[in-house]
Amino acid sequence: MKIAIIGSGMSGLACANRLSKAGLTPTVFDKGRGIGGRMATRRADGGFQFDHGAQIIPSETEGFRALLEEAKAAGHVADWDSGDGKPHVVGTPGMTALTKYLAHGLDLHQQTEVTSVTQTNAGWELTADQPLGIFDHVVCTAPVPQTNKLVGPALSDPLDRVVYAPSLTLMVALKRPLDAPATQTNPTDALAWIAHDSAKPGRSTENCWVAQASADWSATHLELSKDEIATRMLDLFLTHHRLDATDVAYATAHRWRYALVTEPLGQPYVKSHDGTLYAGGDWCLGPRIEHAWQSGTAIADDILRSA
Ligand SMILES: Cc1cc2nc3c(=O)[nH]c(=O)nc-3n(C[C@H](O)[C@H](O)[C@H](O)COP(=O)(O)OP(=O)(O)OC[C@H]3O[C@@H](n4cnc5c(N)ncnc54)[C@H](O)[C@@H]3O)c2cc1C
Repeated sequence: MKIAIIGSGMSGLACANRLSKAGLTPTVFDKGRGIGGRMATRRADGGFQFDHGAQIIPSETEGFRALLEEAKAAGHVADWDSGDGKPHVVGTPGMTALTKYLAHGLDLHQQTEVTSVTQTNAGWELTADQPLGIFDHVVCTAPVPQTNKLVGPALSDPLDRVVYAPSLTLMVALKRPLDAPATQTNPTDALAWIAHDSAKPGRSTENCWVAQASADWSATHLELSKDEIATRMLDLFLTHHRLDATDVAYATAHRWRYALVTEPLGQPYVKSHDGTLYAGGDWCLGPRIEHAWQSGTAIADDILRSA
């Protein structure tokens, strides 16, 4: 059975990993350079490293906890005592590590943006800048606007009720240590989350920090240029910590247009009437990595049931 999976984020890789363990050989396509989607780690000149997407890996379900334990034993995630009194789990040496662990041995094609998915008599034909082949099953795990564009009309349910909040993220490396808590949650401030990225286990950096703007601030400033976003967020960060520009070794910003799901679909996946095309992702169940894993895993189980 030929299966194509669009997206090498947590949902696509959870799906591919489970299918592969069952003896199938799915092909994964992603438009990004690196795998992991929003579980992203940015490396910059100067030896700096930042988790500029997901920060920590909360877990509530037994299945996902089992995966984290397995990945922990293999050294791809670790506990992080950030001093805020809550136990955290993070990827190590970066947040992409958990997705890299799931991706091991899979047939992955990065920098391949799927531009069309067309049903033919022979199966689903996928195209990027060249034909990618014909597949019996297709699983699309892109965020809803992109999924809608690619496969929306072929799905049995509309996805329009899914809503996302954007997130603007600042990555800043300081020239010297900063005496501040390793995690700061300030829900009513413009910088709603600040983390000392270098304080996470397994990092080789020292003074790298990540700050995420609140949903309101992000929505208001979403269309500014990335340089302008970086300038404004850096200003907030420096003021908050009583620092000035001479303390900064490096700063940049990232715009996540579809960052956190605020209104999920409420079911683990959607498929076409004939059951050969699936769409899933965190947006099915909620805003977290675990929701993406649940969706991808549920799709794989459904494919295996029908095989
Ligand atoms: C700033 C930020 C902070 C977050 N913090 C946390 C946190 O601390 N804890 C937590 O649990 N969750 C957090 N999240 C949410 C978490 O990152 C997501 O829930 C999860 O990573 C989503 O995984 P996914 O596979 O569903 O989607 P994604 O990770 O978005 O993966 C989808 C993939 O599809 C690819 N794609 C899209 N269109 C195409 C196409 N046409 N062709 C090929 N590939 C395509 C994309 O490149 C992407 O790699 C955060 C998210 C953000 C943005």
